[in-house]
Amino acid sequence: MAKIKMTTPIVEMQGDEMTRYIWDWIKEILINPYVDLRTDFYDLGLGERDKTDDQVTVESANAIKKYGVGVKCATITPNAGRMTEYNLKQMWKSPNGTIRAILDGTVFRAPILVEGIIPYIPTWTAPITIARHAYGDIYKNVESKVAKGGSAKLVIDDENGKREIEIFDYAKSGGIAMGMHNTDESITSFARACLNYGLDTKQDVWFSTKDTISKIYDHTFKDIFEEIFNAEYKERYEAAGIEYFYTLIDDAVARVIRSNGGFIWACKNYDGDVMSDMVATAYGSLAMMTSVLVSPEGHVEYEAAHGTVTRHYYKYLKGEDTSTNPIATIFAWTGAFRKRGQMDSNIELVAYADAVERASIKAIENGYMTGDLAMIFKKEGTNVVKCNTRDFLIKIAEYIEL
Ligand code: NAP
Ligand code: MG
Repeated sequence: MAKIKMTTPIVEMQGDEMTRYIWDWIKEILINPYVDLRTDFYDLGLGERDKTDDQVTVESANAIKKYGVGVKCATITPNAGRMTEYNLKQMWKSPNGTIRAILDGTVFRAPILVEGIIPYIPTWTAPITIARHAYGDIYKNVESKVAKGGSAKLVIDDENGKREIEIFDYAKSGGIAMGMHNTDESITSFARACLNYGLDTKQDVWFSTKDTISKIYDHTFKDIFEEIFNAEYKERYEAAGIEYFYTLIDDAVARVIRSNGGFIWACKNYDGDVMSDMVATAYGSLAMMTSVLVSPEGHVEYEAAHGTVTRHYYKYLKGEDTSTNPIATIFAWTGAFRKRGQMDSNIELVAYADAVERASIKAIENGYMTGDLAMIFKKEGTNVVKCNTRDFLIKIAEYIEL
């Protein structure tokens, strides 16, 4: 069979530790035999980030703006321990944070569902995608302790003049105070990213805040979403047979639990942080969560939601057999191939992405899987064969039908 040709490269971002090996094995076993792979390659491994003073991360993000599609391996976000382990010049920032800031994107996280791995909420038969606003609120706050007898005020200075709003008078007890912000620009691009993603994936978009309590802050989120939806999306949503739906966060939680999944839940920064971990766990495994960053211009970067799986890496270095789950990393690649194929009208590339995803799911449903899934897999009449990572990839390749 002739290999599938690509007309435009995908931006490839290599990473760290166990996932760095998995990355190369996926290319060796699932990609190179089928695709004449063209990538614009950046090594985001910690050593290379240190060597280039993190310029390589900035360059890779700019390359995504140029080519439109990127795929990223998990990377180490350095902490004090990594400073000595890698003898770093500086505690470099999270690459994901850097890329997100350059692309100004929204992160969408969705689980991969397979038969035999039953969500903790068994009625969740379709995936729930969490869209997290990745800017501002408590992640960019200022806060302080306040001593008894003190006070805290919010001072606003804009074209309407300078005014002071009392936050609290701490006459009876000392305490704490916090100030936080967001911008119309960031909320607007969040709204567009969510509403575009709904159209792209033909799913309803739910949005929730606490606007009954936060009558200006949260209410502004609600208003901006509504304005953008009515002005730019309403007709296209009707034509596509999908809905935009706003509700209070408490009501949303209750509805999500009772739902069957199959929609996008847009969340403010903190809500998205918390809810994405809850949703990932409820669907069974972090190793089955995909993550895609979408910019307001429609540039996309695909990755797995998990990290570099450090514990497995050290076992692997000691020569022990490791059974690390490659599924989310495979789906990051197939997501990128599908998007590339759609943008370039390359039907073969789209069909290949679909085939690899089907093969991955089929391998698991036929009982072949890594250790993390073997612990939770239950399907009548199916024997579970726990594979190491490479053998699992080879098994998936056997199931590919093009
Ligand atoms: P992690 O790499 O996600 O792993 C945490 C644990 O989850 C693992 O020890 C493993 O549990 C399980 N796990 C995660 N992915 C798995 C997979 N594919 N297959 C099987 N089990 C899997 O998180 P971490 O250990 O907290 O972080 C490690 C490094 O990753 C850190 O340096 C962090 O900065 C980085 N990180 C990067 C990203 C990213 O690039 N997007 C995201 C998160 C973390 P068991 O040990 O019980 O088997
Ligand atoms: Mg979190």
